[in-house]
Order: sequence, then structure tokens, then C-alpha cells
Amino acid sequence: MIWQNYIYFVHENKIRVTHLCGVIRIPQTIIIHGGAGYWREDRLMKALNFLKDLGEKSYKVLLEKGSLAAVEYAINKMEESPLFNAGRGGAPNLLGHVELDAGLMKSNGEAGFVASVKNVIYAISLAKIVMTETDHLMIVGEGAESLAKIKGLWVPENELLTNRTINLWRESVSGLLQVVSGQLSKERLAEDNILRRILDYYPHLVEFLRKNRAYLEKLQMKLGTGDTVGAVAFDGDELVAGTSTGGLFLKLPGRVGDTPLPGAGTFANEKGACSATGVGEDIIRVMLAKSAVDLTRNLSARDASREVFRILGEKFKIRAGIILIDQEGDWGIYHKTPKFPCVVVENGSLIIKDEWRE
Ligand code: ASP
Repeated sequence: MIWQNYIYFVHENKIRVTHLCGVIRIPQTIIIHGGAGYWREDRLMKALNFLKDLGEKSYKVLLEKGSLAAVEYAINKMEESPLFNAGRGGAPNLLGHVELDAGLMKSNGEAGFVASVKNVIYAISLAKIVMTETDHLMIVGEGAESLAKIKGLWVPENELLTNRTINLWRESVSGLLQVVSGQLSKERLAEDNILRRILDYYPHLVEFLRKNRAYLEKLQMKLGTGDTVGAVAFDGDELVAGTSTGGLFLKLPGRVGDTPLPGAGTFANEKGACSATGVGEDIIRVMLAKSAVDLTRNLSARDASREVFRILGEKFKIRAGIILIDQEGDWGIYHKTPKFPCVVVENGSLIIKDEWRE
């Protein structure tokens, strides 16, 4: 098949591409996601506009500086924006603090992860420092904060909390306290109420708080979600995946999600690169990102992104979305959440949508 200036042909079960001038040319592609989940219409529109502009800018970085620089650039911009659940605007935990997770992985096996880190906007850049400057793969909590201080990435917490996240936290926690004390039943909350969704994600939270009153007391004293971001890129040579998040809203302090766990929320090897988002506990249980990349051995990335949900979904609930790219530059996006705003820029052509399930 001839399309634009490329010839597409099937070889070893995969679609390959050759430029008409005879030189094998692999598409250069970047995919960026703004998080899989429930998005209110007004914020979704803002996020899509933001992603369109970001897609164009990140593609330029991809062409000039390669996959790693493009993934870091794209994620940094979303970490800076209060629209997404990463860096500034990251979801507060149960006690109202922002604890971030981030991960970065390259096809040659180099990787860096940070988990449960406070006081940082650019968590993905901290993960890159773990990758490029230390002998370790993952640094968490206070150790990660010390590293952020040394590298000039530390910021006070008020730079991470936004009016929106503070209000959401107050509203949800006061509702939660009423549920815990039996004054309000979960069923009386509207379908789209954030607390109702949280109680679906965490079916044991109310019981946990009833049994562990120390948390309740802290909450009572203190009373007074956008989504995770990620990117995968292929510059014709290197595949890179990166993800950054504030984690799930109202998580218990110290909870680590899928994002900084290699193979769960972030994964890359010589076959493919994948970034996942959604309910971290669902994603970790099935090692979603690695499972998707493994399927690209026999399937195109497009088919693999759907198949992984079909196969693993037979046994497990997977409330998540993924972006996936393979060594031929083929890509796929799929999700089991209501919305998943993503932008793809492939050889300069841009596609932007908030649903990818056809
Ligand atoms: N996967 C993230 C976590 O569970 C949250 C998200 O993607 O929105 O920490």
C-alpha cells in the first residue's frame, strides 16, 4: 500500500514502512496522555486544548533532541499545569498532603523511579536524576526529597496545592467523616460525586477509618481530581515511557501506586514503551504496562493495546487506560474509563481525542 510518501508492507506479521526513496524510515511519534478517568466537561475541554499545543511543541523536541527529552518536556509542562493530577494540582492524600510518584524508562533498560515524594513539581525530572546520576532505580520518601533539595527541585507544599484540590479535599473529607459516623450513606451520594468514586476505588476505607481512629482524629483536626500524566515516544532509535502522578485522591499516606513501579504503570524495552493510568491497585496486579509491551511481539501496538485489556480483563477488573508504542513506531491507545484525553503526533500529523475505544 502506498500512502503519502511511504510504502507499507507486511513482514513477519508486522506492518513495516519504507520511504519511497528506498531508505527504510520509521515514523517518529510521541503520544501524551492527561490521565484516564472521569473528567468534567469544562476541564476536559481545557485539557484537550492544552494537549494539542503541547503535542506540537513536544514533537519539535522529539525531532531536535530525541525521545527522552521529548517525554520529559511533555510531562514537565503537565506537571506545571494545575489541570492535571501531577506536580502542581496533584491529588492530596487522605491527610491533605501531595505525595507524588513518577517513573521513566528507556528501551535500553536505563530507568529511574521516585515514589511518595513531597515538595516537588517536576517529579519526572527527579526520576531522570535517579536514572542518570545514581546507581539506583528507585528512591522514595524523604530520601527523594533530599535529592530534590540538592538538585534545586524542592518547593514548599503550597506550590503544589491549588484552590481546586484544596476545596475538593475539604468537601470529600467532610463527606467521608459523615459516612464513617453513619450520618450519610454512600448510596445517597450522586453517581458523579468524587467521594462516591473514591469509595468504589477503596471499598475498605470506611471500615479502616472506623477501626483506626488515629487517622480520623487527624482528619477532624485538619478539616478546615484531575489525572495522572504520561508520554511515550519513539525517535526512530530509542523508545521511552514516562508517567507522573499525585496518585489516587485520598489515598492513605505512604501508599504507592503503579506509576513508579516498572512494568506496572511505566515500562519500556527494545520492543515497546507503555504508560498506564487509572486505579493503581488494578494496574499493579496485572503488570499492565509490561503485559501490553509483551503482546507487541506478535501484535501491532494498536491490537496489543486492546488485547491486553481483553485477556487480563477476563480475570481482573482493570479501571485504567494505556498509551503504547512499539519498535516500528506503530502505536495504540485504549482505556476502560469514561474518558482518556490523549494527543498523538506521528510524522507531524496530530490526532487528539478524549475516547479511544473503537
Ligand atoms: N495510576 C495512578 C495511581 O493509582 C492514578 C491515576 O492514574 O490517576 O496512583
